Amino acid sequence: MAVELYTDSLHKIAYATDGSVYREVPTGVAYPETVDDVQELMLLARRRQTHLIPRAGGTSLAGQVVGTGIVVDISRHWNHVLEINAQERWARVEPGVVRDELNAALKPHGLFFSPETSTSNRCCIGGMMGNNSCGTHSLIYGSTRHHVLEAVGVLSDGTIETFKTYTVAQLEQRFGTTFWQRSEHPTLIEGIYAQLLSMALDKATVQLIESNYPAAELRRRSCGYAIDEVIADLHNTTKPLPKRTINLCQLLTGSEGTLAFITEVKVSLDPLPPREIMVLCAHCRSLEARFEANLVALRHAPTAIELMDGEILRLSWGNVEQERNRFFVKGDPEALLITELRADTREQLDTQANALEADLMATGLVEVCTRVYGGDVSRVWALRKAGLGVLSSMKGDAKPTGVIEDTAVAPRYLPSYMKDFSALLDRLHARCVYYGHISTGELHLRPILNLKSADDRKLFRDIARETALLVKKHRGSLSGEHGDGRLRGEFIRLLYGDETYELMRQVKHCWDPDGLLNVHKIVDTPPMDTMLRYDVGQRYAIEEQLGGNATVLNWKAAFDECNTEGATGARNQIHALMCSIEQCNGAGDCRKSSVMGGTMCPAYKVSRSETLSTRSRANVLREVLTRGWASEVFAPNNNGGHVLDIPELKQVLDECLACKGCRSECPSNVDMTRLRAELLQHWHDRHGTPLRTWLVARMAQIESLGACVSPLYNAVAHWRPTATLVKRVVGFAPERTIPPLSHRSMRKLVTDGTKQHTPGSKGKVYLLADEFTDHQEPELGMAFARLLSALGYEVEVPRHVESGRAAISKGCLRLAQKHARKNYALLHDLIDGQHPLVGIEPSCILTFRDEYPDLVAPADRHDALAMAQHCLLYDEFLVREMEAGRISVADFSDDEMEIWLHGHCHQKALVGIDKTVQALGLLSGAKVHVIPSGCCGMAGSFGYEKEHYRTSLAIGEQVLFPAVRKAMAQTDDTPTFIAAPGTSCRQQILDGTGFHAVHPLEILARYVKG
Ligand SMILES: Cc1cc2nc3c(=O)[nH]c(=O)nc-3n(C[C@H](O)[C@H](O)[C@H](O)COP(=O)(O)OP(=O)(O)OC[C@H]3O[C@@H](n4cnc5c(N)ncnc54)[C@H](O)[C@@H]3O)c2cc1C
Ligand code: SF4
Ligand code: SF4
Repeated sequence: MAVELYTDSLHKIAYATDGSVYREVPTGVAYPETVDDVQELMLLARRRQTHLIPRAGGTSLAGQVVGTGIVVDISRHWNHVLEINAQERWARVEPGVVRDELNAALKPHGLFFSPETSTSNRCCIGGMMGNNSCGTHSLIYGSTRHHVLEAVGVLSDGTIETFKTYTVAQLEQRFGTTFWQRSEHPTLIEGIYAQLLSMALDKATVQLIESNYPAAELRRRSCGYAIDEVIADLHNTTKPLPKRTINLCQLLTGSEGTLAFITEVKVSLDPLPPREIMVLCAHCRSLEARFEANLVALRHAPTAIELMDGEILRLSWGNVEQERNRFFVKGDPEALLITELRADTREQLDTQANALEADLMATGLVEVCTRVYGGDVSRVWALRKAGLGVLSSMKGDAKPTGVIEDTAVAPRYLPSYMKDFSALLDRLHARCVYYGHISTGELHLRPILNLKSADDRKLFRDIARETALLVKKHRGSLSGEHGDGRLRGEFIRLLYGDETYELMRQVKHCWDPDGLLNVHKIVDTPPMDTMLRYDVGQRYAIEEQLGGNATVLNWKAAFDECNTEGATGARNQIHALMCSIEQCNGAGDCRKSSVMGGTMCPAYKVSRSETLSTRSRANVLREVLTRGWASEVFAPNNNGGHVLDIPELKQVLDECLACKGCRSECPSNVDMTRLRAELLQHWHDRHGTPLRTWLVARMAQIESLGACVSPLYNAVAHWRPTATLVKRVVGFAPERTIPPLSHRSMRKLVTDGTKQHTPGSKGKVYLLADEFTDHQEPELGMAFARLLSALGYEVEVPRHVESGRAAISKGCLRLAQKHARKNYALLHDLIDGQHPLVGIEPSCILTFRDEYPDLVAPADRHDALAMAQHCLLYDEFLVREMEAGRISVADFSDDEMEIWLHGHCHQKALVGIDKTVQALGLLSGAKVHVIPSGCCGMAGSFGYEKEHYRTSLAIGEQVLFPAVRKAMAQTDDTPTFIAAPGTSCRQQILDGTGFHAVHPLEILARYVKG
């Protein structure tokens, strides 16, 4: 076959789930590039009696892209914008184009594709069309259905069809006069049009549809097939029949890939919204207050109104990135009603906001309102968008569960609907978190359920069924935007009634008589509580084989300390580790491309391959460690062996850069670096530690020895024949250079150097002589000592051993544990707020903060956490002292310079780089530009390893290298620096661009006065 098709276990696991609670192993996974590929796949599906599951970003929440057929992922290759017609305001795109990437391309034209989702940085136009997606601004822009003008697709008989608006006269021209009255139709497409025309021209059918579909005023509905919308003009009796129109895109949008395979879409565009933007965040006094407040806010011409309840806000406390986005929240409100306003000028905006605030406050429902303007609004929406993902960060087996998360009723029915709903929850003894697009009557209600428990599984179904009855009573839609999939399909009959449901089944049968397209979605779905990700009473193969407490890291402590209401503890260390993996809900934030920025996940960003995403890693870990060889993906090799013999486990761990991008950017806090370290250690325990791993993990000792004979070491490392041999034996890429060593360590240089300085008057600072800098760049330690001494501080290198970072990165966790315990013993009495331990290599000092508390003896955890607070990165220390008034710009020269800063990925993940920028602000003549790069691609030894070398350079080439080249190409005389605090990043920049980057503190040390 010409089309790329995989049937291996890794692909099957990666595509067995989506953003929902379902799991089903597909027959295979295909990546088409052309329409011919899709036709070929359609033939294959027919031959093998299977079906195709079109898939884009795979972020569906109702199991739309899970099934036993062949998953056809269009996002990898089919992602080009084909044509933009700015004048006529439309764009023609391939279905795999990511929504935000399309908008990036449209921005220069002053246009955008307005339907949006919380997943807009990775969901694709094809997927949005499949689900009829919409979001925050549906109040003014509607849903995807309102914007699909035309589409091209492959029908189940393999023919290619263009779907657009046709008059009945045009159809008659193509198929013959009154073709719909014929009993036989020679082509599939004729039958499709004939069926819809027959329905539209039959009064009883139209009446049936009108009385059973959701209220016409409800803007959001993605439940069932939109027969009502597609035939709306056909039964418009004010027009003569030949002039009435039909556009099948109306039906195809929201049909979840069950009717045709879309290969191209033409969408309408809107002008970019007015420039001035603000949100008014009303802190509601009670949960009930939010619905009344919503009706008040709707009177003020908002562009959006969103709701976030207190529970979600509280969950964001533990998430590094979202904590930064909570800046506008005062205290601990019960609910936030966020109203967005837009205007051409700030004055107009304020007038509108004043009136809104006055009205809201007059109701007595609102405690306080905060305002956020301009660019910061995106941070408010980022917090709101992370809502669903953050929900999944609730620790333990019970989770806020997507089941009725997408109901919509007209806003005026919301208070009564919610009253009934609260009574329902009380009756079922269930709890729920609320958030969503309240202005259009859509609430994301997520009951907290443990789907591994039989009782909660029953509740899962009961809540779904009972809520469907409430939605029916209020003439709402079971799905306002997320679609039916297999989650809601079962209740469509209940909502619409038997006869209407039968019409939908007829539609499916007419388009896809042989069941070749995404079967068992929307209609004829299996019971909603089957094929779930977890089994009742789920056991873990790894727990049975290793024992419940076999971990090196203390995984359970974080669970036991987690005090989120509803969170359940872990029964042992392995259970806690597995729950950390299960935190991945498949929402797919790890699939955002380099165009979207951020670090997570570098390997995915360069390949756009699902199997290299964090999500895929989490899926593989979950499947392998839970089901082991018993998983059907391994049949017929199901040999009942040890889970730690499954090669897919090692493969996904090896492909992870351990950059910690996911640690902060995954809204569910999936920390793959930590999982990788733990699991690789167990792999090594069983299979032995490979030479390269062993050497890199002991890099500090090897370099100490090497430094004693540094001329010899450097000669061997740099004389081409010996260097080539060493690199070949170790498994490093021949193109990389082994860093030379200095015979004098940083510790020695600093200790000797500081003897000549007079003791500082501002106190003593301990410097961490980390293993990367100690022998490779000892002069950096001197720069630090010089800088601090000039600023009036005393610097001392205390007795300590290596941080253990290199060992962690190679999965030699027991070795790292030894170092952590030793360092804790040596330092915990020594360092405190007055005498902090300061590090210059981000990854090493941050190990003290991030991993040490879980590596020391459990009895020392509390003290290790306290010690961690006094382990600071150099920039954090400088900013702390600036804020205390002990350092200022007056201490530095004001020479003009340009600094292009690339932050270290661990730093970005754990503390951010704001403090580096603030510290560089001490140089008043400096213009600091932050390069919007993620990981540089080197990631410790990853980029050195021969099998990863190309990926490593490709990662650097995405953003970092071009930015460095551009900065260095500037021709004026202003001194220009590329600043990078990470040793590996500096090496990568040198290897990738030929330019030397410096550590930011070298610049500060050069320009400090005195
Ligand atoms: C955290 C989170 C937040 C979300 N927030 C929102 C929200 O605010 N608004 C919203 O509307 N949705 C939301 N969703 C749901 C989901 O993100 C959207 O429905 C999204 O548009 C799906 O796009 P996708 O590219 O991931 O498509 P997929 O999930 O891959 O596919 C969606 C459907 O489209 C079909 N499809 C894909 N490509 C084709 C094709 N070429 N031909 C035919 N059919 C095709 C698939 O078969 C499937 O039925 C959210 C999901 C998550 C996880
Ligand atoms: S790893 Fe995180 S970001 Fe990726 S899908 Fe899972 S939960 Fe989402
Ligand atoms: S640590 Fe980095 S490379 Fe590994 S999964 Fe997370 S984001 Fe991806």
